[in-house]
Amino acid sequence: MIGAGPAGLGCAFDLRLRGYRVTIFEAERRAGGMAFFGIPRHRLPREALLKDLDVIADLGVEFRFGVRFGRDISLADLKKQNFSAVFVSPGLAGSLRLGVAGDDLPGVVGALEWLHQVNVEGLATVPPRVMVVGGGNAAVDAARCALRLGAREVSLLYRRTRREMPAIKEEVAAALAEGVRLVELVTPEQITRAPGALSIVCRHMRLGEPDVDGRRKPEPTDETHAMECDLLLVAIGQQSSVPDDALPNVPRDRWGRLVVNRATGATGDPFVFAGGDAVTGPATVVEALQSGKCAAYGIDAALSGDPRRVMVEAPRDREALLAEPRYRPVAVEVQQRQQQESLDAAEAVRSFDEVERGLDAEQAAAEARRCLACGLCATCDNCLQNFGCPAFFRVDGKVQIDPLLCDGCGLCVQVCPNGAIVPVSEGAS
Ligand SMILES: Cc1cc2nc3c(=O)[nH]c(=O)nc-3n(C[C@H](O)[C@H](O)[C@H](O)COP(=O)(O)OP(=O)(O)OC[C@H]3O[C@@H](n4cnc5c(N)ncnc54)[C@H](O)[C@@H]3O)c2cc1C
Repeated sequence: MIGAGPAGLGCAFDLRLRGYRVTIFEAERRAGGMAFFGIPRHRLPREALLKDLDVIADLGVEFRFGVRFGRDISLADLKKQNFSAVFVSPGLAGSLRLGVAGDDLPGVVGALEWLHQVNVEGLATVPPRVMVVGGGNAAVDAARCALRLGAREVSLLYRRTRREMPAIKEEVAAALAEGVRLVELVTPEQITRAPGALSIVCRHMRLGEPDVDGRRKPEPTDETHAMECDLLLVAIGQQSSVPDDALPNVPRDRWGRLVVNRATGATGDPFVFAGGDAVTGPATVVEALQSGKCAAYGIDAALSGDPRRVMVEAPRDREALLAEPRYRPVAVEVQQRQQQESLDAAEAVRSFDEVERGLDAEQAAAEARRCLACGLCATCDNCLQNFGCPAFFRVDGKVQIDPLLCDGCGLCVQVCPNGAIVPVSEGAS
């Protein structure tokens, strides 16, 4: 296993349960991947994470820390050491650079590298004025950490608007409540060192037509303005630290991601399986875990020579789907979601204490009793990602159907596993 992040740990866990001996080579001095080095403590308390890591260690997984694949160890070395297969999940631990003049000046730092310092090395202070460029989780987490470390002013610069930010919506709202200032529709174009500060020339943007993800594309305008800060954190994207020649027979897509069979993690090289962010691009802990589990099945099937061991459900055919009986809720009593306690924003920024305090036992039981098969959209994204109809798009996190592009074929009604799409007659609002 290469990398002790969620994907590697998920794969190791399942392979141990299947009776294999598992060794994880990890470049850092501890396990957890971005769940440890990236996600800050105020969102993921370390006691909870360490408990899960202990479970995996207790299963008898061997960890070799401080070993970087591609530098300290190669595929040839692993073969020589008689490993039967390798699962590669190094994630995307490097921040992309801005690619503008001055992006290498002191004080311009990748957000992931900075979060690593905060989470692992215990960075204790920040200068008074911090700017973060980006709109994803790393950007929002960096901004909220900067506030907690005592920054007086924290601004988040994003080239689209709040509505298009890919970060978790609740986290954006919490960041703004805590005092982060969002500057929308700007992108840094040039950075210079002014006496005692960084000066950033920002290009104003406007929103154009939607791109393939349905998000409106930012387009430059003629206007610019200059802003000043003491520290500029860059969170505009992530890249892999594994050199291409370390995995010579594993194809990559145009973004440099490893190409695998998603059901088994198999690559073009029969010795190598892969998963996690290095395959999907920046995703989530759960998706990384799932890819590790799929690869555990894939590795087991390949090593045992028994393809029936691959237990991932194959895509079902349309005829079978159409014939399937559907759950139709008749009378469902609406029950409100339980609200968890969370720290007040003014109090939250004073420490790294967990902000969302979870549900108590009674609330958890009430939440578990709520009907979750209410027939409404569960944002599984089957319609957007697998169905392929151009009429589907997303606005504010909700899936919508463009009435001009919809020709009323009705297939989506069958395709939605939650029964959230119902046919309406022409002219209905
Ligand atoms: C700031 C931030 C906030 C996030 N917030 C959330 C969230 O709220 N919810 C959520 O679900 N997801 C969140 N994510 C995403 C989530 O953390 C990742 O999708 C997930 O950790 C990916 O798992 P992985 O195992 O593929 O990679 P990683 O977690 O990146 O783990 C890869 C591991 O491989 C090691 N490694 C790298 N290169 C080598 C090498 N050459 N040799 C040996 N070891 C190597 C790394 O040190 C690391 O331990 C966040 C990510 C970031 C950065």
